Amino acid sequence: MRNIQLIEDEDFYNFKVSVKSSDVFLSVASYRLLSSKTDYPLHLGVTESGSFVPGSVKTSIGLGSLLMEGIGDTIRVSLSDDPIKEIKIGNEILKSLNLRNRGVKIISCPSCARQGFEVIDVVKKLEEKLSHIKTPLTLSIIGCVVNGPGEAASTDIGITGGGKDSNMLYLNGVQKEKLKNDEIISKVVALVEKKEKDIKNKI
Ligand code: SF4
Repeated sequence: MRNIQLIEDEDFYNFKVSVKSSDVFLSVASYRLLSSKTDYPLHLGVTESGSFVPGSVKTSIGLGSLLMEGIGDTIRVSLSDDPIKEIKIGNEILKSLNLRNRGVKIISCPSCARQGFEVIDVVKKLEEKLSHIKTPLTLSIIGCVVNGPGEAASTDIGITGGGKDSNMLYLNGVQKEKLKNDEIISKVVALVEKKEKDIKNKI
């Protein structure tokens, strides 16, 4: 607050405040305290958070806790890794908290013996092939019927693994057609691109 006062004494008010720390607890506590004392915009970050996996986890916990409380105006993800990954993690944090709804949000299940197709591989490829999509759309890529139909009911496009090349495609929760394993990626990409085009044409 002393530093804020120094800047204000110079009649300068167009700034935001950052109190990043590499310690998650210290960062969160500092921003909470600061937000109770000033209305200046706060720039959030867990600084020098480390390499990709630990840094992403620390950042998500720290920034996520604050953003869920409505604290914070801009964010920075600081990883010892490619800056493009920092942006991806930042975007995912905002998307997870429904603070940004840009692009495709994928619901998918982990490795499991019941999967009717290679979920992990399909999701990786879909993320890559759909990275150009800016319209908010939801996909569920689920390996079997245990959770597939339920997730498909709450997403724009859903795939439920059926085994033996008979996976089910859902549009807006409604069963549409069976797909072979090697048809899933091209079909979903085509449908997402068409949906984005249709939405843009309506605007
Ligand atoms: S939804 Fe089915 S395939 Fe996916 S993790 Fe659960 S049981 Fe396994």
